[in-house]
Amino acid sequence: MEKFYQQTTEDTLQHFESDRQQGLSSKTASQRLEKYGENTIQQQESHSVWALLWDNVNNLIVYLLIAAALLSFAMGETIEGVAVLIAVVIAVMTGFITELRAQKSIDSLQDMIYTTAKVIRDGEVTEIESAQIVPGDILVLEEGDAIAADARLLESSNFASIESALTGESEAVDKDANETYDEDIPLGDRRNVVYAGTAATRGNAYAVVTETAMETEVGKISDMLTGDKKRRTPLDIELDKLGKAIIIAALFAALAVLIAGVLTDQPFVEMIHISIILAVAAIPEAMPAVSTITLSRGMRIMAEHKALVKSLSAVETLGATSIIASDKTGTLTENQMTVAELILADGATYKVSGNGYEPTGKFYDTDENEINVKEESALHEMIRNGAWCTTASLRENEGQFEILGDPTDGAFVVLGKKEGIDRQSAEAEGLKKIAEMPFDSDNKFMVTVYEGDSRTLIIKGAPDVLIDLASPDEQTAEQLASYNSTLASHGQRVIAVGRINDYQGGTEEADLREALQDIEIQGFAGIVDPPRTDVKEAVKVAQEAGIRVKMITGDHPQTASMIAKEIGLKDYDKTMTGKEIDDAVGQEGFNERIEEVAVFARVSPENKLQLVEALREEGDIVSMTGDGVNDAPALNGADIGIAMGIRGTEVAKESSDMILTDDRFGTIVDAIKEGRIIFDNIKKYVSFLFSCNMVEIVTIFLSVIFLMPIPIQPLHILFLNLVIDIAPAMALAFEPAEDDIMKRQPRSKEDSLVNKRFLGRIILSGVVIGLVAFGFFSYLMHTNHELQYAQTATFTFMAVAQLMHIFNVRKSSGFGLDKSFLKNKVLVGAMLLSVGLQLSAVYVPFMNDILGTMPIQSGTWGIIFVAAAISTLIVMGLKKAFQLK
Ligand code: ADP
Ligand code: MG
Repeated sequence: MEKFYQQTTEDTLQHFESDRQQGLSSKTASQRLEKYGENTIQQQESHSVWALLWDNVNNLIVYLLIAAALLSFAMGETIEGVAVLIAVVIAVMTGFITELRAQKSIDSLQDMIYTTAKVIRDGEVTEIESAQIVPGDILVLEEGDAIAADARLLESSNFASIESALTGESEAVDKDANETYDEDIPLGDRRNVVYAGTAATRGNAYAVVTETAMETEVGKISDMLTGDKKRRTPLDIELDKLGKAIIIAALFAALAVLIAGVLTDQPFVEMIHISIILAVAAIPEAMPAVSTITLSRGMRIMAEHKALVKSLSAVETLGATSIIASDKTGTLTENQMTVAELILADGATYKVSGNGYEPTGKFYDTDENEINVKEESALHEMIRNGAWCTTASLRENEGQFEILGDPTDGAFVVLGKKEGIDRQSAEAEGLKKIAEMPFDSDNKFMVTVYEGDSRTLIIKGAPDVLIDLASPDEQTAEQLASYNSTLASHGQRVIAVGRINDYQGGTEEADLREALQDIEIQGFAGIVDPPRTDVKEAVKVAQEAGIRVKMITGDHPQTASMIAKEIGLKDYDKTMTGKEIDDAVGQEGFNERIEEVAVFARVSPENKLQLVEALREEGDIVSMTGDGVNDAPALNGADIGIAMGIRGTEVAKESSDMILTDDRFGTIVDAIKEGRIIFDNIKKYVSFLFSCNMVEIVTIFLSVIFLMPIPIQPLHILFLNLVIDIAPAMALAFEPAEDDIMKRQPRSKEDSLVNKRFLGRIILSGVVIGLVAFGFFSYLMHTNHELQYAQTATFTFMAVAQLMHIFNVRKSSGFGLDKSFLKNKVLVGAMLLSVGLQLSAVYVPFMNDILGTMPIQSGTWGIIFVAAAISTLIVMGLKKAFQLK
């Protein structure tokens, strides 16, 4: 069959019963959605419910517990065997249910992150979710749009797209709706079609959708794409390692027990039994559930604070950010551009009054005398040309003035309006726009040509670029450059306006480019773009937290540096331009230099990627913002790529790890803080759970060494690990930020969760509390208590001591029983619950039967509390003495 790229556009339209002007009717569209399904690429089913369940069943912990249960049965300890099996089910189900819930909440958060597309439906251009696109839809494509389905171009103008995702080719491909082909040609050469997964980089086009979802070219190869949705986080991997290390330690302890037992002629069966108990004691049954809860909760909190984080691993990485590289315009500043000053080519200087985009304001000379612009022809002409070289438009909305389109253009539209000039007034004067080169960040200028009796070419753009183009004599060039820097030194964004009167050339892009050497510079406009009100505070917070903030902008270095100073950026006077980056890249000392500089001006998107790479090589964790199509590589390359939710292109959003729904710099800092809190809390419960395991191991080990009976039954251990500890551990995820959370340095890339200090702390707590537990048990045995009583008391002591131990882990320095404890209501509740459960284990007859416990007396309770308090205090003292933060 003829492929769509070999057909005429009419045939393709007919094939899909669609229409270039009307598009599909919404009725047809919804019918087709039924028929073809949503336009999404399905990843392999990595987290179906069954897969998740299997994930929880298929792990070492479960196997060890099952082995323990089987051994119990073999030894005739039926109740114990059954109880261990129940424990297995509990462990699996808590893991499974929490992960399922977390996954649901992650999915619903990820649903907030969707891409949109513009299509024609019922004759109107409408924005829909990309998933709703159906074959036959007419796509409306512009620079920056992500292309969401395979489609045949119907009309195109100056249109190009980047197809690297599909072909690996990083250059943009020129596309042309009028191209025709008779033969089979490779994917990359078909210029009259566009593909899902690619992006429009230039121009605009209309196209009719031919394939969606898995039928698209990218859908067909999607098995080859890595579905990293359920990628294991670095934390997962570390926790796994820690868990294995503890189990190995327990196995060694078990082996030692066996050997000791054989040497001292103890019954072999008993020794096996103890070994199993040790293994059970070592297993952190609750761990996987708790860490998933913490991360997904963090994700939700971040979303509430306007930061949509796409993956759990990003939540974790955020907290380690050491550098924020932020766009200036719109993120650090308001992006409300207002022309405040004008300097004409002859040096005449004017000030303009007015607020934001409100189109009223007056003009003054340097002596503050109001002037009549109509009488100053050079000034009038510059204002007029500026306004005619724009694409944005001004709109009033409930008394508020807004700009649709580019804010810099907006400044010129408003400037013109202050004198009653706009693009419509050109028509009134009998002028027609016959050519236009839209603004782009590589050219850094925009051109329009108007035709009346004669043609006029107008250009507006970055001053240095325009001065270069005009190449006046040296003296004039210096003069012009000095006007530019006067305005820039006021912190203003400077745009030059130039023209060619009586333009003789053509209207093709090549003609325009060639003509630009003849431009004459009319003057410079100084635009103010005030910093966002909360930026100064956010920058301060970030810098106090040891995070370096770097400004990235297309603006002039002086302008950028002034704004940097205003918002309190450290080293605001250390600047570097894109050109300097280009010259220095790859040379020795390049990375170090990039580390030092705080303001990067006149940068290109390629420079951004170079910056990210240099900083990462230096060991930094880089969060970088971006909004354009060309920012995608830098966003991909950064540890955390941050896209602007409002201003950003769909492509930037797709390439990012996090989306700011409010485009605010402060939101980044908030998210980092949240990331730090999460990491802190993870550390706390990991430390808590493992030190509790240590207590159990130490106590049992000591009693074997000293030839005492077992101080605590396997079921008690499981009860501690799965019932008593789990709720407080989960509640630690709800701990509020510590006071110094944004006063510490960022943790380094090498500084993993499990370091020497951390292990030191776990071992220390385990040994101290374990020793006291053993001492208590020996005391009871030597004071003629029966074994069951001593075991129940030791078991209860462990529960109480572990709960008190919470106060040692909940603060990284100092003691955790203070006012802030009551703030974490979840924790208070969890601890009360645990106390209640332990009481039931001791006093409820039914529980006594299952657990082999018996009621204990008040005197014993007294000793338990005193001993637990003492061991908690010793742990705290030693922690301080050894500085085990
Ligand atoms: P940024 O917006 O971060 O400054 P851009 O790449 O958008 O970076 O702009 C680069 C430079 O191009 C600006 O500093 C300015 O001099 C010039 N410029 C920006 N927008 C326009 C526009 N709409 N028309 C003409 N020149 C512009
Ligand atoms: Mg811009």
